[in-house]
Amino acid sequence: MAKIKEKVIAPEYIPDKGSHVLTIDKQKYLIVNDAMYTFYQRSKGEFSPFFLGIRDDKKILGCKCVKCGLVRCPPFLTHCPDCDFAPTKIVEVGQVGKMLSTPPITYFANSLFLKMAPYGRGRVVLQGADTALSVNVYTTTGILAPGIIKKGTEVKVVFRDERNGEISDIFCVPTKELTRAQVAKKGLLSSQINWEGAVEPALKKPSAADKAAYAKAFKEIKSIIKLMNQTERARKDIAGWKRDIKVKTTGGEFAIVINNGDIRVEEKKLTKPDFVVVAKDPKVLADGLAYRGAITDSVIMKRLWISKNMEFTTIFKLDRMARSVARSRK
Ligand SMILES: [Zn+2]
Repeated sequence: MAKIKEKVIAPEYIPDKGSHVLTIDKQKYLIVNDAMYTFYQRSKGEFSPFFLGIRDDKKILGCKCVKCGLVRCPPFLTHCPDCDFAPTKIVEVGQVGKMLSTPPITYFANSLFLKMAPYGRGRVVLQGADTALSVNVYTTTGILAPGIIKKGTEVKVVFRDERNGEISDIFCVPTKELTRAQVAKKGLLSSQINWEGAVEPALKKPSAADKAAYAKAFKEIKSIIKLMNQTERARKDIAGWKRDIKVKTTGGEFAIVINNGDIRVEEKKLTKPDFVVVAKDPKVLADGLAYRGAITDSVIMKRLWISKNMEFTTIFKLDRMARSVARSRK
């Protein structure tokens, strides 16, 4: 996957220069796209050691009361309110812990958190800490579905390879999805985890009917993707995005290739796809692309399987393209 330098505001949220006419009571008014922007820098204040620990040392820090010994993680107090405001000192805590409660899962996040979705938002009590740390939780087993991470599930802190000194620099995955060495390793990086380990659902041997269903669905998918490629609005939905998607269905297999505003579909077997979609019934995918129901819904409802949780974003983009085509037709 090509790495794209991120901006504070994602390019897709920046409107194009332009203008249009709005008519109110038969009077024409010119409306011009303009901007008002303020960027700012934010100090992490007394939280700085905690965030620097994450950014530079791949450590999770807490604060320990010198009197009662309670360890709070994150270290949100410099003095203990339970001990007549005795000072606390910074201590390192473990990177394995247990979920305090069952995390709710966010599939449709707002623009700020969109590229993290789907994610579970949970509270984890790390070894050596007495309070819970709020973290995002993920799975390496495909899409994050309810039941994978629950109250009491043992999880491991994982550090993103690129860290900025924010809580989103870390996340947790269940320890049972990791090797013992990974669980034991301090400062485990996201790139050191096997994100390709999801087990694909098996497809049965195709019958003549399955092959016919595939041929029909593929024909429709091909024509809708051609239309997407001709629709400026849909092309914008995948600006700066590059993905090779392997699509497996009972009756046959094909590839969807997204390349910076361009989308193609070809009847070929990709050997190194960015991710895999398994659609037992290819009509489910054809329906989604044709704007008859959302593809994201089909993923959540498990009618479509995708090999990587983070690729929900790509599925979301495909839904947007379907919508863009539908709107342009009006
Ligand atoms: Zn205390």
